[in-house]
Amino acid sequence: MSVTPKLNSDRPMVLVTVTGVDSPGITSAMTEILATGNVVIHDIGQAVIHDLLSLSILFELGHGADDKAVIKDLLFKATEMGLKLDFRVFDSKSESQKERLRSKGYRYALTLISDKVTAKALHAVTGVVAKFGLNIDTIERLSDAEFSCVEMIVSKEQALERSELKKELLTIARETGVDVALQAEGLYRRAKRMVVLDMDSTLIQSEVIDEFARERGVYKEVAEITESAMRGNLPFDESLKKRVSKLVGLTTAEIDAVYKRIELTPGAEELIRVLKKLGYKTAIISGGFSVIAERFRERLGIDYAYANQLEMEKGIATGRVIPPIVNAERKADLLDVIAQNERIHLDQVIAIGDGANDLLMLERAGLGIAFNAKPLVREKADFSINQKNLKSILYLLGISGRDLTDLA
Ligand SMILES: [Mg+2]
Repeated sequence: MSVTPKLNSDRPMVLVTVTGVDSPGITSAMTEILATGNVVIHDIGQAVIHDLLSLSILFELGHGADDKAVIKDLLFKATEMGLKLDFRVFDSKSESQKERLRSKGYRYALTLISDKVTAKALHAVTGVVAKFGLNIDTIERLSDAEFSCVEMIVSKEQALERSELKKELLTIARETGVDVALQAEGLYRRAKRMVVLDMDSTLIQSEVIDEFARERGVYKEVAEITESAMRGNLPFDESLKKRVSKLVGLTTAEIDAVYKRIELTPGAEELIRVLKKLGYKTAIISGGFSVIAERFRERLGIDYAYANQLEMEKGIATGRVIPPIVNAERKADLLDVIAQNERIHLDQVIAIGDGANDLLMLERAGLGIAFNAKPLVREKADFSINQKNLKSILYLLGISGRDLTDLA
């Protein structure tokens, strides 16, 4: 918790902080004394962690009442209630200058996500925060019962050199297994309105083309072409055409069989369900195949699905893909088109993907998240999540476990 003074008078100010075991009536007892003393309150903040209370009140003295009596009464009351009271009197001029600087500053949200956020990770992150001259304004646990997500709001007078900080946070993630996301804090962070997901290895746990190849008994041949493309020897469009050519003869029954055995990524259903309830637009943009993407779109109630189209003749794949091919550029363009269609600003769009062909799309969106991605994608994206559960995306929007319970 932090109390941010908003000062505009020259009178002396008092900041009192009451700490101790929480019980009903503490705030009421303290404010009663302030009311009697006729003080002007400038700010108030309170946090309770388990049963430990910390209450801070900033007020102005010198309005005719007996200032000393007010502070004495507060101290007496706190002691009577078994609490500790600290107070600080200061000159409002110097504080108001500080506050002016502070209000011009930049704010960021740091989100730590893991199965269990460790002390080691917290120490590493707060160390980096201090190193970059950031002040921690608030710390809050977003996860419900488990200690799996912590959000810190940090601030600085000057804008951050974010790429350097991002590098350090990636190192922490690698060393501690705790993902750390950094975002500019402001209206746009919570005002996201659209989420775009890659399909293969993001929304679902497999690569559909590999599964089709298995059905046709050409897995090895297709995998060789994929590898060659990944080494950069073959442009994406060429490699896709070549791989699809191996799928000639694939039947609708085989496609059905593949669809049935594909598993969704953990948390996928809950993520989409929550996003829909909150009124987000959702889309699958996939370099995979529409015969599968369309079914997941329908099953999960996703608004849009764009993917490559296998040419079929009488229920059998011809081994050709119907242009235009959905490659990295087209993925980014499709994101643009959907956002324009929905009249949603790109800053309000989140894109999630794991592959190199998602990078342009991740860059185009206001927030690009590399999800269990290859190292190259991880480094280039705004940030990366290596947790296996897609639900963790909700934490980045500041949605807490309690919010999720309320929505259920
Ligand atoms: Mg993928």
